[in-house]
Amino acid sequence: MTKILEGKTGIIFGVANKRSIAWGCAKSLADAGMRLAFTYVGERLEKSVRELVKEIPGSLVLRCDVTKPEEVDQVFDQVRDEFGFLDTVVHAIAFAKREELQGDFYHTTKDGYMLAHEVSAYSLTAISRRAMALMEGREGSIVTLTYLGSMRVMRNYNVMGIAKAALEASVRYLAADLGPRGIRVNAISAGPIRTLSASGVKDFSDMTEHIAGIAPLRRNVTSEEVGDACLFLSGPHSRGITGTTLFVDAGFHIMGV
Ligand code: NAP
Repeated sequence: MTKILEGKTGIIFGVANKRSIAWGCAKSLADAGMRLAFTYVGERLEKSVRELVKEIPGSLVLRCDVTKPEEVDQVFDQVRDEFGFLDTVVHAIAFAKREELQGDFYHTTKDGYMLAHEVSAYSLTAISRRAMALMEGREGSIVTLTYLGSMRVMRNYNVMGIAKAALEASVRYLAADLGPRGIRVNAISAGPIRTLSASGVKDFSDMTEHIAGIAPLRRNVTSEEVGDACLFLSGPHSRGITGTTLFVDAGFHIMGV
């Protein structure tokens, strides 16, 4: 592959394991020559993330729970010290209480609602604010991950659908704010992929089967396919695109009932 991202740097939020969509993004970006930093949440995951990123030599591994502003500050300080600048941010994180990803949406608690929004939506703004200082003059790109449950009612997706709607609106507001600085902000709306987070959504397997039967491509997508879309949105071929949501879902979103 041509190393179109040689000399560029990126930070990836959201690698938990090999199945993570963030890992698909990381591999596509690293194959294209980008130097990467990764974040992990707590000590429990540090070892496994460090082990995994050995596959991408030269990567930084940094601690960051996005509910802790001091850890977010620290991450960007470390990236500035190590890389000096930043070209790409991949925001692939989300969280909701497992018990709120099933049953009726109206059972959502205030705590659960706030937590889902803090981790899954607000964190994009918190991260973008820190990233923009390191993207000065670099034509930076910020990419986040969303899901169709933001626009349509998907069974059991519940509070996460509301958080994804907030995330997609944040993409548009951030794109408008950061565009004059040459920084682009976009979202990828991925079809369902079996990951750790996805396993928290009740009856997730039934959903993937249903989608594979209806989507124009008659299948589900892979994290590698999402990774390649992330490569597109991070690189020069998408230089005229900002504030958009790109669907990587085998076409499912165009279908009626
Ligand atoms: P994943 O592998 O479980 O990744 C989710 C990541 O979010 C994990 O690394 C998790 O870390 C991290 N995270 C949770 N709370 C955090 C916090 N407070 N601070 C920092 N990071 C935190 O699942 P995934 O499916 O790849 O999810 C990545 C993104 O894709 C999410 O935004 C998800 O909504 C989106 N998406 C997924 C699908 C799908 O079907 N899988 C479809 C469309 C969109 P811990 O594991 O340590 O908590």
